[in-house]
Amino acid sequence: MFHSQIFKYEFAKHLRIAAGLVTAIFALNSFGAAAGAAAPSASSAGPKKSRGYFISIDGMRPDYLETLVREGKLTAPRGLGWLYRNGFVAKKAWPVSTTLTAVSHVSTITCSLPSDHGIIANNFLSAGNLVSGFAEDIKSETLWQSARAEGRSVLSLAYVGTDGRTPARQVDFGVAYPDAKLIAPSQGFKWKMAELPAAAGWTLSTELNARLPADMREATVTFVLNPITKEEKQLQVLLFQSNADGPTANIEVYFNADKNLAAGALATLKKGAEDGEFGGLYFTETAPDSATRGFKRHVYLTVSDRQPGAVTVFASRPTYNLAQPASFREALDAQNLVWPDDGWRGDKTPLGPVRQVNVYNLHGKFLAEAARVARKLKIAADVTLFYQPVIDSVGHSYQALIPAPFSSANNDPYTQAIVRAFQNVDANVSTVLEDVSSTDVIALMGDHGMDPIKKVVNLAGLIPEQVNKIRVVTSGSLAMVYAQQDSTDADADEIARVLNTKRVDLKFEEQPVNGRVFRRSDFNTPGKPWQFGEAVWAFTADSGFYYMFNQTSREIFINASALGMHGNDNSVATMATGFLFKAPGIRKSEIDSMNLIDAVPTFTKHMGMRLPAQCRGRALEIKTIRSKLRSTTRSTIQPTKAR
Ligand SMILES: [Zn+2]
Repeated sequence: MFHSQIFKYEFAKHLRIAAGLVTAIFALNSFGAAAGAAAPSASSAGPKKSRGYFISIDGMRPDYLETLVREGKLTAPRGLGWLYRNGFVAKKAWPVSTTLTAVSHVSTITCSLPSDHGIIANNFLSAGNLVSGFAEDIKSETLWQSARAEGRSVLSLAYVGTDGRTPARQVDFGVAYPDAKLIAPSQGFKWKMAELPAAAGWTLSTELNARLPADMREATVTFVLNPITKEEKQLQVLLFQSNADGPTANIEVYFNADKNLAAGALATLKKGAEDGEFGGLYFTETAPDSATRGFKRHVYLTVSDRQPGAVTVFASRPTYNLAQPASFREALDAQNLVWPDDGWRGDKTPLGPVRQVNVYNLHGKFLAEAARVARKLKIAADVTLFYQPVIDSVGHSYQALIPAPFSSANNDPYTQAIVRAFQNVDANVSTVLEDVSSTDVIALMGDHGMDPIKKVVNLAGLIPEQVNKIRVVTSGSLAMVYAQQDSTDADADEIARVLNTKRVDLKFEEQPVNGRVFRRSDFNTPGKPWQFGEAVWAFTADSGFYYMFNQTSREIFINASALGMHGNDNSVATMATGFLFKAPGIRKSEIDSMNLIDAVPTFTKHMGMRLPAQCRGRALEIKTIRSKLRSTTRSTIQPTKAR
């Protein structure tokens, strides 16, 4: 079977998008009148201007959300469950195009297509160079830009795309993921009590003196604070073993800048107490040549093994807040609210054994606490963008291990991890919406779904003899084929055709690997824009697989390191996410499906804002309290459910 059917679908879909575009252009040309007329809740009578919240929950599966609401597990006062029970719900929200994080977020926030905004994958080639979809220029106007152009202030809590690194990616107040190059390396220290010198010269408080035994030992450690300036911080360490060697042995570790614990230790760690007990140390950078001079750095410390008579302390990579403006960063620093870094280990309530999951959980909580600090500073932004990464992280780590049907009553650790991740996000969203009022507008959605994974498919294994003649860039279940520097698109097109033939026939345990296929030469008619940039072909995988291109291996099926993945075509049933919405005057109601391209137009309509300039979406018609008729709930783009 050839893929003409697939292209028919693609073409039909874009025709519908083109229809949406006409509406969008009309709305823009007559923007003032259209926005006023279209927004029943806008402040024409206006004593109070609506504040808006545009929230993204990465990798949120709508079926899990619905189940947890039904089972009464999302109970935070202003969280996911509250929104679901009181607002408008689209049970399936289809990603605008490619179901990858960078693409989906940028497509949603610009309500335009990759062919418009240029972010075609999480990784892709631009002028032959591998670039990140999270950092590359966005060519369409974003919601934060259109809002600011209208004089509205924007707070972004790590919303994808607002990394603060270029003016186009800056907002009025923002926290972004810190630059990995500026985060210092992680360090570990292991001490055997018997080999350490006796503690000498310490000045301890009466209280500590009374509590600590005579046989205390000491050590020193040096933390690297900043890998660029190499600024270091030396600490004194006081250790003592509180009972005899054995499984219950408990070593307490105190850190301080000098041998004076009179004012209390900087951090205390107890081995043999609770799993993953940790302490934090905060330092302010002083190196004059530091780009982050004056920034507070944070080191987490955990005890990481339990050998009798010895203790291993793991220190995370000293990290910092990339927040703007400086006053906002300083306010976060002043409260010791410093970005938790990727090297961190341990948690009192970990979400399973994968460290990264727990790290993202901390990121999510940090962002909610940053919102609280913003409120304390009286930053009442007109538009707040909020991002939550942990549910996606749980999905990537455990999806294939989560039994179906999903229920919070399933006692396996993977179900419980995703339940806790949803509950944590529920609490974080509630923190952000703590002081929301009835005049405010809230839109909350995911960016894609999540599939359980069986195998990784190494496309290089299919064409070992021609592997060097093309470049293949993969992002999850998407693979894009490019010409090599010294070959032509026509050569690459031919090799990709051969690769595709082999790929289409490929099966694992009777299941075809093949998802969708897109060939650039088939997208040369107007109204049917090519969505994959400089690539000549693009493939997606069927549910259960994702791609890699390892030229050094001839193996085709490789064990997956990620047990959940996305990046499939946006019509794949498991790639849908959910959409929750609340605005003044709307009724609690529900529709079956919508497209995320309509999320921003729905938000701007109820905020009385203009659309981003290249927006192709259209506001959903949502029943209002005053409307007599059943309003239509038709989405601009009808998703095709056929696989
Ligand atoms: Zn994502």
